[in-house]
Amino acid sequence: MNNIIPNLTDKKVVFHLIKNFKIRLSKKLGQNFLINDNVARDIVASANITKDDTILEIGTGIGALTQKLAETEAEIITVELDRSLLSILEKTLEPYKNVRIIHGDILKLDLNQEIPNKRYKVVANLPYYITTPIILSLLEKKLPMELFVVMIQKEVAERIVAEPNSKTYGALSIAIQYYTVPEIMFTVSNKSFIPEPGVESAVLRCTLRDTPPVDVKDEQLFFKTVRSSFAQRRKTLFNNLKAAGIDKDQIPQILSKADIDGTRRAEQLSIEEFARISNAWFDLLK
Ligand code: SAM
Repeated sequence: MNNIIPNLTDKKVVFHLIKNFKIRLSKKLGQNFLINDNVARDIVASANITKDDTILEIGTGIGALTQKLAETEAEIITVELDRSLLSILEKTLEPYKNVRIIHGDILKLDLNQEIPNKRYKVVANLPYYITTPIILSLLEKKLPMELFVVMIQKEVAERIVAEPNSKTYGALSIAIQYYTVPEIMFTVSNKSFIPEPGVESAVLRCTLRDTPPVDVKDEQLFFKTVRSSFAQRRKTLFNNLKAAGIDKDQIPQILSKADIDGTRRAEQLSIEEFARISNAWFDLLK
């Protein structure tokens, strides 16, 4: 590689690297590399990065987004699972002394050990086969994240930001909205990647809340209530709660205390109403 630093979103550069390093792109690992410079810049801009920030990137690939992140002069920690990409990354990211590459599985790494005593932002073009497990695990571990900006399937982004009374509103919308304020920043054409993914993409920004939007007495019970209520979308709330194993005779008590009509369907209920049901259930279990 010569002294001029190549632009890693340039399609020719990407093809050249893949060919020279004899890389076989893995569909299984969700390897759809970004080749649109504007998209990479817009993702970075969406995270409002300053040089005092610490950024965790998930899925380095050949470093297309990492390069743009590194140019902000923030501290960049980037995690890549595929060992065969490491030899490329040692070359492509070599000029950037503010980048640390970790070889590992984001779902298995101990992030509190890798990034101790720091708040950070997560920025990623996520591997689509595990979008939801990654986002939920980052949130459930209550990591010191300030926000995350992630490219994901458009359909999943729409489910995450959905409001009650829509077809896309569900347990995922509630889980993410409980922890964050999510917004779709922009959509991205399939032509922005190689290979082109089979689904449309969008960039989602989620800003972590300091406190949840509702008072919940027991978080696990709250999420169990939500999951159970959506188990079969066409069923009534009463029937879904019954199927979840709550004593049939106790359900009217819980619903009446929460002031919720059991003939309604889960998709009609707000987060606040789910909190009321789970709190009433909690009081009954005491
Ligand atoms: N950031 C690069 C870009 O924008 O071109 C690559 C994005 S590509 C959609 C997703 C990357 O995540 C791939 O490089 C893939 O190998 C990596 N990956 C897949 N599963 C992973 C996991 N469990 N932990 C860390 N990285 C993973």
